[in-house]
Amino acid sequence: MFNQRVKIKQLLSGTDSASAVGSEVVVMGWVRTFRNNQFIALNDGSTNNNVQVVASLGEFDDALLKRVTTGASLKVKGIVVESQGKGQTVEVKATSIEILGDSDAEKYPLQPKKHSLEFLREKAHLRFRTNTFGSVFRIRHSLAFAVHQFFNERGFLYLHTPIITSSDAEGAGEMFRVTTLPLEGAPKNDKGEIDFSQDFFGKSTNLTVSGQLEGELGAMAFSDIYTFGPTFRAENSNTTRHLAEFWMIEPEVAFNDLEDNMNLAEDFIKYLIAYVMKHNADDLAFLDTRLAEEEKQLPTEKRSGLGLVEKLKFVLENGFERITYTEAIDILLNSNHYKKKKFQYDVKWGIDLQSEHERFLVEQHFKKPVIVTNYPAAIKAFYMRMNDGCEPGKETVAAMDILAPGIGEIVGGSQREERLEKLEARMNAMHIPLEEMSYYLDTRRFGSVPHAGFGLGFERMVQFVTGMTNIRDVIAFARTPNNCEY
Ligand code: ATP
Ligand code: MN
Repeated sequence: MFNQRVKIKQLLSGTDSASAVGSEVVVMGWVRTFRNNQFIALNDGSTNNNVQVVASLGEFDDALLKRVTTGASLKVKGIVVESQGKGQTVEVKATSIEILGDSDAEKYPLQPKKHSLEFLREKAHLRFRTNTFGSVFRIRHSLAFAVHQFFNERGFLYLHTPIITSSDAEGAGEMFRVTTLPLEGAPKNDKGEIDFSQDFFGKSTNLTVSGQLEGELGAMAFSDIYTFGPTFRAENSNTTRHLAEFWMIEPEVAFNDLEDNMNLAEDFIKYLIAYVMKHNADDLAFLDTRLAEEEKQLPTEKRSGLGLVEKLKFVLENGFERITYTEAIDILLNSNHYKKKKFQYDVKWGIDLQSEHERFLVEQHFKKPVIVTNYPAAIKAFYMRMNDGCEPGKETVAAMDILAPGIGEIVGGSQREERLEKLEARMNAMHIPLEEMSYYLDTRRFGSVPHAGFGLGFERMVQFVTGMTNIRDVIAFARTPNNCEY
């Protein structure tokens, strides 16, 4: 058996009896730095804290030591000793060092210095080996685990909804087509259009933009379901918060109204934050320091004021602000920002809130997460529940978006229209063919119940918790317009 190593996180924790001071251990990992021909900082990805391996002078061949370069992988056997240096409690005094894989120092792209995030994006296959990405991806992992734990504790069923779909009614975004038809000489029908009846599925298909509609079908039997999977949107917008392939969590709950839905979303977000604060304190502390250093480079008015951990604590300890869309518009219209014409996009009842409006509400006005409810029906999807008793021309739906500082929209959700007639009327008005959605309408024909759900963009949540400002830095291999490496 080759793998008898102790993980570096475990070794440094000081709680592991097998690696107590005086024990012989094996550690394996990649060299971060090698100082004075004696001190090797070794990292295995279990933590940002490197173990210091001491290769005492004179005990190892020069030829071997020359191969201990940044990026090389080692197997080290040695004795755990109390550390002389500062910053660590124990270190490993090497008795044998084996090079598992050399790394040519001249060619290895990561130098033992700070690289820009832009540079590292081009080296995404190696950036996991940096402290920043080590922390980000361990936190991403924890968040994913906490998602399942949260719903499992509450008796939700994890429903795997399809990635390839034929439903194109959702309208959440531009879709990627899935086809096996040839690009040239594709079969045509009488009207001269491409004949998808000859395609693989006998119809036109796409990658899913959301698992919601299928999720609703599950909720109509299991009561509480959630999905957690990849979604795809051919968004041609190059922003710091849009990906063409991103992961979304979509709970759908029977017997919930809009308020239940908001409570669930707020509890969920707080649970995820609390989980990471408890289980990833080291990584958060690292990112907190990193962010503080980045902020120092910014002009004062652009600084967020709160540190990362402070911000997360604040979010945990305070209720999210809840306002209606109409109130949001009033706040914007009455703001000095508006009066001084500082918004690029105009503000009036009926507009879709732009990112600048959302950020004003969250970052300038309330300075905390905000849930905006009851949006104009005209700018929202067909399945959202019509509010009763609206003024003609001012119809609203029971929608809710959660806006987070530094991110903007992090959750989009609604109570769903459970009344068959109202749903059909809305679909007709929006030219959505009822026949194609007959399966969906069945849930309203046979035992319809009030229900609600939302979608949380997983990467935006990771951005929020890690403080990373570009969404490309919280997913392993980002897919964005003109970029599909790896
Ligand atoms: P936005 O206005 O920011 O484009 P949206 O209104 O299109 O968002 P929804 O369709 O409500 O978003 O999707 C639910 C959630 O999925 C959003 O709140 C957001 O967190 C996330 N999301 C949406 N589009 C993307 C994307 N292209 N990349 C990453 N996350 C996304
Ligand atoms: Mn969008």
